Amino acid sequence: MSSPSLIGAYPWIVNVFERTRGYERVIYAQDEAAGLKTIIAIHSTRLGPALGGCRIQPYPSEDDALEDVLRLAESMTWKAGAAGLDLGGGKAVIIADPARDKTEPLLRAYARVIESLGGRYITSVDVGSTVDDLDEMRRETRHVVGVSQAYGGSGDPSPITAVGVASAIRSSVYQVFRDTSLLGRRVVIQGAGKVGYHLAGLLKHEGADVVVADPNLDSVARAITDFGVDATSADGALEMECDVLAPCALGGVINQETIPRLKCRIVCGSANNQLATIEDGDALARAEILYAPDFIVNAGGLISVADEMVGWNHDRVMARVEKIGRTLLDVFHIAQVENVSTAEAAVEFAKRRIATLSSLNR
Ligand code: NAD
Repeated sequence: MSSPSLIGAYPWIVNVFERTRGYERVIYAQDEAAGLKTIIAIHSTRLGPALGGCRIQPYPSEDDALEDVLRLAESMTWKAGAAGLDLGGGKAVIIADPARDKTEPLLRAYARVIESLGGRYITSVDVGSTVDDLDEMRRETRHVVGVSQAYGGSGDPSPITAVGVASAIRSSVYQVFRDTSLLGRRVVIQGAGKVGYHLAGLLKHEGADVVVADPNLDSVARAITDFGVDATSADGALEMECDVLAPCALGGVINQETIPRLKCRIVCGSANNQLATIEDGDALARAEILYAPDFIVNAGGLISVADEMVGWNHDRVMARVEKIGRTLLDVFHIAQVENVSTAEAAVEFAKRRIATLSSLNR
């Protein structure tokens, strides 16, 4: 316990320990010459090393960066646990503008910090970082996954993430309509980027009535040309009448302001942190909209990059990704039986697996 005089002089000492309660380690590191300022949060290693991407962003303050890395690291614990992986949750942020500050010294300085953690945290790609950046990091540390195929990695996981989302959409459709076929079901995909594009192709192939929306009109045109899907304006996507709304762009799209405008029966997409708050999960349930929790639905990318740790194998990865739909049905079951939102049920599902396996003698 810090002495009162110390607390008076340095109030943030107490504050930091309060704010990081429940986390195993939070590491601050810097390298002035390389321009590196990074925070690495290790939420849990109870099932294995903490794996999570490195987000590079010019945060308005160090406090915002801490807030973000803590939230993201915790959700990685639940994502890995629910996906059946022997991994814990962690995340890293680098406070920098990726367009201006991302240099070879910065990436390599960051990778040296990761190496110094001895494998307790394994880094990967996230907003602001790319597969090329990971290749650069690989020169300093072995504890990086999602590197390019040239470096023995699995490359861009987006097509695999899309396979998992498609599996989740099938299960969600079954849960609501008691029918697994997507024939004629209207799915609006918000964001025709790396995941949304591949998802559009998969769903169209199964006979769904697919509509894409993206402010990037080149992305929209590519999906139309390649798959014959329809398009709507980016602004109109949330209000379009459909069976499934698949958010594949931004976080926080499901909130108090948007929920009353939704005209879908299901929300199931790849975007991280779709709910602005956990209470928005309850609001969706009250509006009779089934929410497929994002970290269950989008686990395909994590499953794929994590497989690099044992020598990436396509069939093994696909078998695990196809199980995402099955996992989702288990989560819906918990929500029904325990009368909680599907968002809460998903965390509960992950916690139970972690608790069961943590009690094994190792
Ligand atoms: P991306 O950047 O390739 O695509 C996002 C697309 O959303 C872009 O085309 C962008 O123009 C579009 N967009 C931005 N604002 C929009 C708006 N208001 N309405 C409609 N579209 C809009 O990203 P991605 O890799 O396809 O990832 C999509 C989401 O899924 C992100 O939230 C990401 O964190 C999450 N995710 C991705 C993966 C993966 O394997 N790529 C894995 C897990 C989770």
